[in-house]
Amino acid sequence: MADPTQQPFGSVFGDWITTAVYAGDAFTYSGSAEPIRDFSLHPATHVLHYGSACFEGLKGHRQPDGGVAIFRLDDHVRRLRQSAERLMLPVPEFDMVRQMIIDAVAANADAAPDPPGSLYIRPTLIGTERNIGAAARPTNEALLYILTSPVGDYFAGGVRPLTIVVETKVPRTTPQFGMVKSGANYAMALIPTVQARRSLGADQVLFAPNGDVTETGAANFFVVDAERIITRALDESFLHGVTRASLITIAADLGYEVEERELYVDELIEWSGKGEMCLTGTAAIIAPVGTLVVEGQPHRVGDGQPGPNTLRLREALVKAQTGGPDAHGWRTPV
Ligand code: PLP
Repeated sequence: MADPTQQPFGSVFGDWITTAVYAGDAFTYSGSAEPIRDFSLHPATHVLHYGSACFEGLKGHRQPDGGVAIFRLDDHVRRLRQSAERLMLPVPEFDMVRQMIIDAVAANADAAPDPPGSLYIRPTLIGTERNIGAAARPTNEALLYILTSPVGDYFAGGVRPLTIVVETKVPRTTPQFGMVKSGANYAMALIPTVQARRSLGADQVLFAPNGDVTETGAANFFVVDAERIITRALDESFLHGVTRASLITIAADLGYEVEERELYVDELIEWSGKGEMCLTGTAAIIAPVGTLVVEGQPHRVGDGQPGPNTLRLREALVKAQTGGPDAHGWRTPV
């Protein structure tokens, strides 16, 4: 097989999946991994009409002893359950989801690339009731499956300074779905993201409705300098990234001050002259921002190159994922 880390992120898949079916008020896990296969869905399936779908994204990392360890497994299981709850999908039991992820990673462990590659894990929950009349009520049948994908870099070109366009008019999603990891949120971010890519060569859009900085289409956002890191305080309007939480812990361990508060675009413009900025996410890890485009005007961030503090924090996070001391108990060996 061609080296999956050289293929576009998410386009190569592990040979095994795990599945659980919800019917009659309970999930039933088949109990072991199955060969990956196409699903057959009736044209009336709930998810195809009413958006009853949510997912997670986490990673398994190859360790120095040759095994694979899943990073912050329990946090991702919790967030999947939270997404399900907010979409009124059946909420799968914590221990079952956890075991299904472990079993899927174990079955695909041979496909996990060495660092800097990893095994991306995509738990997905969809509403499968056949009923086009069920627009105003939850699905009563569902399918949960754990898909894996050996991956390299999310942003083509590796660690490089990203160009981020700041969008001040359109929010990424609606306030009640900010904390939900569902496809509809990504669909809503698509037009501004594609426009920014086409017209300005941007890598991502930072959504800051009325100047109030939230997050990008697929990552959280930080301002960094030698003393501190700053990010938006948690509220219901955006996805509470597990990488965001990890960076906050790691930065505090390294002696940085952590400011979780409101952050406005005007302040970002001031910061661009003197500080660093980065995106955080399971896929993006910690990705440096080189240019911020506001109202069509490019602002170079620092000297336009990945900043030393961003790189230092990134290295510390990668160590915590790939075999350094597990000071916070974040790794689950498989
Ligand atoms: N925000 C959005 C919209 C995302 O899609 C992601 C990626 O999952 C994140 C933030 C970062 O979350 P995490 O660090 O848990 O991957």
